[in-house]
Amino acid sequence: MLAIENIVVMENELAIAWADGKESYLELEALRRACPCASCQGEPDATGRVVRPQVNYSERSFLLGSYQPVGGYALQIHFADGHGTGIYSFSFLRELGASSPGQGES
Ligand SMILES: [Zn+2]
Repeated sequence: MLAIENIVVMENELAIAWADGKESYLELEALRRACPCASCQGEPDATGRVVRPQVNYSERSFLLGSYQPVGGYALQIHFADGHGTGIYSFSFLRELGASSPGQGES
């Protein structure tokens, strides 16, 4: 079970220290582009087809507003442009962190 020990907000990154000793560095821009909410990633229609919506980003889209833990398994991240419906599960955050260059699950 993943747990977060500490979160540090840097200029354009979120650094997460996990309870198991690993660290993830997540670029805010990558985080926003990966926003898992329905208005960013789309929802399947009646036939199961997912149409990815057109999302317009501004400079403020890639700045952090605030974040809050959700139910001990996820983080809800609010961006400075007011978008805050994305709920990032811990395992999703780990995956995102692991895909950055130089980081790897071992
Ligand atoms: Zn979103």
